[in-house]
Amino acid sequence: MTIDWAPLADLIETHDRFLVTTHVRPDGDALGSEVGMAGLLRQKGKDVRVVNASPTPPRYDFLDPEARLFERFGSSVKPAELADREVAIILDLSAWNQLGDMADTIRRFPGRRVVIDHHVSEDDLGATFFKDSTAEATGILVMRAIPALGGSITPDVACGLLTAIAMDTGWFRHSNTRAGTLRAVAELIEAGAQIDDIHRKLFERNTLGRVKLMGETLSNMRTDLGGRVAYATISRDDLLRTGAIPQDSEDLVDFTVSLRGVEVGLLFIEQVRGGAKVSFRARKGLDCSRLAGKFGGGGHREAAGATLPGPMSENVERVLQAVRQALDPGPSAR
Ligand code: 5GP
Ligand code: MN
Repeated sequence: MTIDWAPLADLIETHDRFLVTTHVRPDGDALGSEVGMAGLLRQKGKDVRVVNASPTPPRYDFLDPEARLFERFGSSVKPAELADREVAIILDLSAWNQLGDMADTIRRFPGRRVVIDHHVSEDDLGATFFKDSTAEATGILVMRAIPALGGSITPDVACGLLTAIAMDTGWFRHSNTRAGTLRAVAELIEAGAQIDDIHRKLFERNTLGRVKLMGETLSNMRTDLGGRVAYATISRDDLLRTGAIPQDSEDLVDFTVSLRGVEVGLLFIEQVRGGAKVSFRARKGLDCSRLAGKFGGGGHREAAGATLPGPMSENVERVLQAVRQALDPGPSAR
């Protein structure tokens, strides 16, 4: 799929003050794409603010070493401060609920809205979409946009984009990794991204709390449907006991699909405001975005998420039932 970037080039040429944002619980693709887009806009002499609904997980602090790029909506940036923004660029999401506390501000945003994204699910968002659901990461779309918009890939931008692409392909292991992915990575390394340094910063700076949370998650893992499903839970109490923070749960769902024979892995994370965030991961063909869609969420075929209200045990049972139904629909549905 090729995207025509001309309408975005026009918008950038004719406006000065930009807001860049991304989804709640931002991951490497979300934050790395913001680094890329903010870098491009600054090269073009634009006034840019990058404001997110969620805090930046500590593992990604290297993307903003002087803590000057990512601003936090609500606690440090009040909605009124964003009134002077002319264009909102929304990265790595196409669903209102993924904007979290920024959804109202974006709904009421009087200027132009732009979405650059690769997710399957799509709300209208009243935006101009630059979308390719076959792209491995939003970072690869930003990477393609940069030359089309008259920018260049500086070492900082290269570091952000490599982080984005690496994290959304599971470090070049998932089925979305193609020859073109690795060619893009080669280009980013030539532009100054240090792949070994990025990997170390992401994976070798765990806190003891996160490692203990991993242990807790592994210990309470269960299987269902004769081992075709694996699931684990993280409660508020688990966080308190291990000394972990909510952002430390990133990627822990991957352990569920590490078990032999597992087709669907689930991780349930109890939320401060009640209810649970569920991460879905699939192997062998089940469509996670459809499954998550049944609970008001979405995402990709192999990785998706949703947030459910209610107590943990009920949520686990509701989701397991939907998974059993999807994996083993019974004779009448076959
Ligand atoms: P994770 O389980 O790692 O939070 O998310 C997996 C994928 O699903 C990511 O691409 C993420 O953006 C997407 N996703 C997670 N939660 C939701 C949700 O509630 N709604 C939608 N539309 N997408 C989600
Ligand atoms: Mn992404």
